Amino acid sequence: MKKIRLEGIVAILCVLVATALPAVVLRGQNGGFSYDKLYIYCHESGKSIRQGLEEYTAHVTAALCEGFKDVPKGAAQAISIAARTQILLNKGTSCGHDYCTSGAHSLPYKADCPENVAEAVKETSGLVLSLGGALAPAFVHYSSYLVTQSAFNYTGREISCLVSVSSPENIEPCEHFVSFEEAEVIFEIKLGIETPDLSGELIITPDSTGRAKSVRILENIIGGSEFAAAFKLESASFKCEKREEGYLFRVYGSGDGLGMSLCGAVTMAEDKAGYGDILLHYYPGTEIVPVYTLLK
Ligand SMILES: [Zn+2]
Repeated sequence: MKKIRLEGIVAILCVLVATALPAVVLRGQNGGFSYDKLYIYCHESGKSIRQGLEEYTAHVTAALCEGFKDVPKGAAQAISIAARTQILLNKGTSCGHDYCTSGAHSLPYKADCPENVAEAVKETSGLVLSLGGALAPAFVHYSSYLVTQSAFNYTGREISCLVSVSSPENIEPCEHFVSFEEAEVIFEIKLGIETPDLSGELIITPDSTGRAKSVRILENIIGGSEFAAAFKLESASFKCEKREEGYLFRVYGSGDGLGMSLCGAVTMAEDKAGYGDILLHYYPGTEIVPVYTLLK
């Protein structure tokens, strides 16, 4: 009888420790940085807001889902897990706070969170992406043409979960016309090429994913991503046609192509994929785990 009661108490204690410990550990992390008290600088109001990890995850996920009408559940859940992982990886100082509401300084943020997104965040509460027992670099981008980019192509550094994988979205390219006058200014001011000679063709050398590795104009060679950024092209996956008055760019996909494609996640979820299928497709070799299992 005594033994049974003792076992009962031990069992209750175990449950209490398992549920309460993560919260205690989370609060004590990193010399005062507390996951239930994230300080966010709100650019719109000029005020400081305090949110817990889950609340902030909902606002970041809402911003990432903003471009889509009715994000299917599996995609919203996958995006929320990637967002939570990125939040924990990016804790730092933005405008004197842990984060801020400007996507240019910190993670993207949307003040109102649609119900389906809030639901997806709740359903995946506390889940993050792990690579070898640490938070995985869960980068996301808007869309990829055929395949995603690899960390190796992008930075020269191999990262096992950021390799090029297929991406199922069906996207139309967008076109941009840049006149020779505009191009001259961009070459000079943004790319530091003095008195550019535009008489030659732009020669694009693709990397293994079809994105521009480099762009050459006569003797000048420019990195593909640098070129895309200077010309405000949505991605480094582009073709260029020289016309009489300037260049016509046809751009495929949007973003750097690293990690999960948001359009691809939505397409996969529309085809009935769950968040696990989506995340493990875009971040091979990772695991989806409760965040407290990563805390030492
Ligand atoms: Zn800011």
